[in-house]
Amino acid sequence: MTRTPSPKDREPVDQDQFLIILSREEALARFEAALFPRAVPSERWALADALGCALAEDIVAPIDVPPFDRSNVDGFAVRSADLASAGETTPVRMMLNDEVIACGTAPTRPVLSGTATSIATGGPVPRGADAIVMVEHTQPAGTRAIEIRRAASPGQFVSYAGSDIARGEVLLRAGTIIGSREIGMLAACGIAQVAVARPLRVAIISTGDELVQPGSPLRPAAIYDTNGAIVTAAISENGGEAIFLGAVPDDEAQLESAMRSALQISDMLVLSGGTSKGAGDVTHRIIARLGKPGIVAHGVALKPGKPLCLAVCDGKPVVILPGFPTSAMFTFHDMIVPVLRRMAGLPPRLDAKVSARIPVRIASELGRTEFVMVSLVEGADGLIAYPTGKGSGAITSFAQADGFLRIDALADQMPAGTDAEVTLFTPHVRVPDLVIVGSHCTGLDLVTAPLARAGLSVRSIAVGSLGGLAAARRGECDFAPIHLFDDKTETYNTPYLTDGLELVPGWRRMQGIVFRKGDARFEGLGAEAAVRAALADPACIMVNRNQGAGTRILIDRLLAGAKPDGYWNQPRSHNAVAAAVAQHRADWGMTIAPVAHASDLGFIPFAEEHYDFALVSARKQRAAVQAFLDALASEEGRAALERAGFRPA
Ligand code: AMP
Ligand code: MG
Repeated sequence: MTRTPSPKDREPVDQDQFLIILSREEALARFEAALFPRAVPSERWALADALGCALAEDIVAPIDVPPFDRSNVDGFAVRSADLASAGETTPVRMMLNDEVIACGTAPTRPVLSGTATSIATGGPVPRGADAIVMVEHTQPAGTRAIEIRRAASPGQFVSYAGSDIARGEVLLRAGTIIGSREIGMLAACGIAQVAVARPLRVAIISTGDELVQPGSPLRPAAIYDTNGAIVTAAISENGGEAIFLGAVPDDEAQLESAMRSALQISDMLVLSGGTSKGAGDVTHRIIARLGKPGIVAHGVALKPGKPLCLAVCDGKPVVILPGFPTSAMFTFHDMIVPVLRRMAGLPPRLDAKVSARIPVRIASELGRTEFVMVSLVEGADGLIAYPTGKGSGAITSFAQADGFLRIDALADQMPAGTDAEVTLFTPHVRVPDLVIVGSHCTGLDLVTAPLARAGLSVRSIAVGSLGGLAAARRGECDFAPIHLFDDKTETYNTPYLTDGLELVPGWRRMQGIVFRKGDARFEGLGAEAAVRAALADPACIMVNRNQGAGTRILIDRLLAGAKPDGYWNQPRSHNAVAAAVAQHRADWGMTIAPVAHASDLGFIPFAEEHYDFALVSARKQRAAVQAFLDALASEEGRAALERAGFRPA
């Protein structure tokens, strides 16, 4: 359902004492108004060095090309009227003038009626002549004469001066990316140097006490600086010269000094983090001291990305991206890239958008422009865009995502079947060879490893078992990995198959209780006894799983209605359960054996789960599907699964 826009939608809404939330459009308009119009910074470069650069100015042709009327063939320059009566049986005899016009030779004698002058391809047409006759259509006729047996039309085989490029015409427009063809055109006009847009120098600073650069060890409660790396790369991808200045702690004095030095060496400054309420106050104060007009938008109705802050300080844009990497990425691509390219004199990234169909309904918050990360797969009739977001804090989904789509602030959903415009993260669409949609398992990566080595690209999209089955029924994937227990038949997976799907056995995963090694409450017990021991100790905290997870069914069976401390902590993955126990936030939970062992936790086996594949029969013969089936059955695949703690079926 969508609402009709009312004028009120465009008015800023007071959110709190620091933030005035602007619509995406209003924020962009204010940012652009503070930045443009402006001259594109440019440099004069030698033609050969300008390859790949954007022209900073229109190029007006300084000369005609060709500079003179030129012969297109080897032959004879003639007056066409002389040949009006020429034919197979009525040859016309012409006297040859005493000159040969080779390339680079200026003619000296006129072509008078009844005469012809020998001319080479590229030679200038002499005075009096108005056509060229090809040498193949003539015959020698004694000394200093030829015979011609066909008529010639005026202008035949002549390229007139300026017919290719006319002096004064706009040859190339500013913003054109210089390729070999453009270099050819410029060279033809004798242009040796061109003004090209100088790559914009963009300084990048990450902010946060918690940030550690990749390559250094992680302290407790610290995280790796992701935004610094992402933004640096994204700026290079868009023709900028990225200058990464590292991470600065949340300290007003240090931050101000870092921002001042950054602005001295750059055309634009991009920061990330520290824009939320409270912390944002610090940024506010610093930016106000850096130049006019200062902040033009702080708080934009985007999801994710609300804390985005846009400022202009004495002509230079200063942008503070939200801290969460996905939010930083969306807002950077949607709001900053267009401005960056325009400042740098680069054309908009035309190749960066494709149209794709949405297979499932996507709910959206009314009032905020929402970004949804998507994975592209090839459907029966065109591209299909799967939402793959894991929430604004997630970075992993990037690897699988090809881009994002935008849901309008005035829509509360995007219905299934919508044709949406997808903004690509990469310049080109990469449609995967093998598409796996369903429940995720670390064992999948082990089986698909040989496919990647063989050059086949694999896309696995984690949407849970039921979501995978639905995708398989719609024919949007090759395989749906599932682990669904059927109470009635007490079997796994098979009862869930429908027409057009067949079961490919995968592997078994042992589910069990995880605890920290050495915890005397659990050591040496079976699963039922361990849970009884946990329930008996009021200080013992559990970590649960989300409703609908196969693992949750097993936990509920063991708890038999009890809801101990920690029951409402319901993370959505095996790894989160192990992390909670390893980091003492909980004392026990249920996860699969390989995950427990990877975290060096104690493990009490409880029940074996069947992780199988629903194969879309119609796609069975595809090469990538066969390669997957081979890998699954191979000695190498089975051994890798066993080493990781899985039991191949
Ligand atoms: P902030 O706006 O600074 O409160 O940051 C919001 C969230 O993003 C926090 O969880 C930060 O730890 C995280 N964050 C901020 N900057 C970065 C960064 N450069 N890389 C990864 N995460 C970040
Ligand atoms: Mg921070």
